[in-house]
Order: sequence, then C-alpha cells, then structure tokens
Amino acid sequence: MQPHEPTPPDRADQPESPYAPPSGWGQEQQPPQPGSAIPQHTGAHPTYGTETSKPYGNEPTSPYGAGSTSPYGAQPTSPYGAEHLAPYGAAPMTPYGAPPPVPPQSMPRGLSPFGMPARHSWEIPLLVLVVVCTTVAYLIALVVLIVVLADGAVPSDYLLLLVFAPILVWLGRGLNYATQRVNGVKMSPTQFPEGYQMVADAAARFGMATVPDAYVVLGNGQINAFASGHGFRRFVVVYSDLFEIGGKAREPDALAFIIGHEVGHIAAGHTSYWRQLGMFLVPFLPILGSSLIRSQEYTADNHGYCNRHTGAAAAMGTLAAGKYMNTLVGFDEMADRAAAEKGGFVWFVNALSSHPVLTWRMWALRDRSRHGRLFLRPSPQPPVGAGPYGPYGPYGEVPSLPPKPVP
Ligand SMILES: [Zn+2]
Repeated sequence: MQPHEPTPPDRADQPESPYAPPSGWGQEQQPPQPGSAIPQHTGAHPTYGTETSKPYGNEPTSPYGAGSTSPYGAQPTSPYGAEHLAPYGAAPMTPYGAPPPVPPQSMPRGLSPFGMPARHSWEIPLLVLVVVCTTVAYLIALVVLIVVLADGAVPSDYLLLLVFAPILVWLGRGLNYATQRVNGVKMSPTQFPEGYQMVADAAARFGMATVPDAYVVLGNGQINAFASGHGFRRFVVVYSDLFEIGGKAREPDALAFIIGHEVGHIAAGHTSYWRQLGMFLVPFLPILGSSLIRSQEYTADNHGYCNRHTGAAAAMGTLAAGKYMNTLVGFDEMADRAAAEKGGFVWFVNALSSHPVLTWRMWALRDRSRHGRLFLRPSPQPPVGAGPYGPYGPYGEVPSLPPKPVP
C-alpha cells in the first residue's frame, strides 16, 4: 500500500469518501442522531441479522409494552432490515410470539444497547479504597524520605519511586503519547477512514465533546489495544493484528466493539492523569488493585456493548482464539464454562487478573441483566425476575456465531 493511498488496494472498488454510502467495513453504524441514544444499526452481519432481529423483530407488540409506549420509539420494522427477518418474518412465525410487557426495573439500561453505558457497580468503591491506600502510602513515603535524608542515609528505590510518582506518571504518559505520534499510523478521513469513523461514532455515542486521536501500531502478532492520554489529549491505540479483524471479509462489528471498549475507557475517565496517579499503587496491591482494573474492564465492555453489541461475540472470540479463528469460537459454549469451571485456582487466576477471565467476561456480555462478576463465579441459576426471556434478560444473549467455512 502506498503511503498516501486513501484505501487499501483490496477495497479499490469502494468509494473514495469515508462517508459515502455503506459498503466498507466501517459503514455499519451511523452516528447517533441528536437527541437519540439508539444505536442505528443498518447493515447487520448476515449471520447476526436473523439472530438479533428475533427479540426486536417485526413484532406487532413492542417488548417494552403495548404499542408505542417504548421509550425508544416504535419500530414497525426491524432496524436490521427486512431481509434479515427471515425465517422469523411476521409475528405469527416468530418462536417468541408476542412478548408480554416487562417491568422497566428488570431492564438495566446501562447494560443494554440503549442509553448510556453503565459503570461497573464495584468500580467507584474499589477506586476510593485504592486512592486512599495510595495517598496514605505517598504521605508516609514523604515523611520517611525526609527522615532518611535528615539522617544522611541513602533512600531506597521504592521510596523514591513513590515520592516521585507524580513526575513519573507524567513522564510515562508523555512518552507513550509521543511514541504513537511518531510511530503510529494515525487514523484520519483519508487513512483507515472506516476505523476513524468508528472512533468518531463511539465518541458521539458516549456524548464526548472531543474525538480522541486513534492510531494503528504494529502488533507483531499480538492482539491488543489500549487507551491513554497526556495533558488534555486522549488517544486510542489498536494493534495491527487486532485492527485487521475490521477488514471487510472479517468482523467489522467486533472491531466496533473493541473501539467502543477503548473509547469507553476514555469516556469513563480511566485515562486521566489524576486517576492514574491515584492508582499508582495498583501493581503493589494484590487482588485489590487487579480487582479495580477488572471492574474498569467490565465498564469498558459495557461501553463496547452499547457501541456495537453485535460485535461482542466475535470480539471475545478474537481474544480467545485470534483473528483467524474468532468466528469458530462457540461463544455460548465457552460462556457456559464460566459456571462449570470451579475451584480455588480458578478463583485465584481471576482475582489476580487485570481483565476478567474470558469465560466470565463472555458470561457478563451474554447475561445483560446484571454486572459482570468480579469475585464469585457466575451462577447457572437464572437471575430473579428475569421475566419471560429466560436467564439472560430481556435483551437476549449475544448471539453466538455458527462456524464459518474457512477460506
Ligand atoms: Zn480495556
């Protein structure tokens, strides 16, 4: 690919403009309309289409109540397009029938694809604990340093690390941002325009005033992405091996989920300097520190889910088995194992992880009736008040993809 070529050669048949009519791999989501929080999903994945259209399908009765009492407006036709309604078609054919009204309190909007994504319920309590620990440790370190210097002794490295934390965090963030600025491929309307549009859409979806910068960096086989900032600037970095899943032959919805997750870290304030300084002690606080990070990851997953819930399964499949086999991963089968895999070692692996273990994370993305489990293994019992939709709440589970033929 030439340095200034606006689109990769394999997409030469597509329009030059990134905002042209849908055809590329970033075109599936339109920017949210002003005053509307409903993600407009116009061109669902053919496989997802029939699945996801079931609960929202062409039914005479809104799942949110009779007629037009839906807070999201009446949708006489599926947002996924009529062609995706087959084989469920009109209401009499749907296996769900006409669902009875569900009390609003059993539908946590923050965990649904609608409204603003929710912060994990444990995040703020754990953050307060960690910030208190960090502040106390910092003040103690300051006093000890003064005493040590007064005695003419040499302070230890750990003491200096803590005392100079404000400068170290600032330096680290500045260096990180500069690294992306000089080495990263910056997304723009002419460079990876579909990815650029996904970032802009996610920022708009979360009500952010400023669209963060976004870079693709060489992944060297690693499946990763992160968000950070420096000063007032915020940015998202997606490794090339993960960014590839957005290619038109793969899973653009999964990339939109990932980008929603990373932009969500920024929207939720995880990338601010003061936040990161207050969490300086996280690596030295076993279980407490990692649990705070895990709760942040659940929060970011809620953002990814809100941004493109149809990409959750393939995004998790990519984290589990890589970019080529992501759609071969049985999402439900793996999520089911969250409840089946038991034991103290399982508990420890999760408790010490920075991210929720994958099976639990998948379970949380499937069961949208409650926040993801931080400490206790998900329960196979249906949650109380799940209503007529089964154990996974009124929004339905994330559809698992049937295996695709490998090209
Ligand atoms: Zn994350």
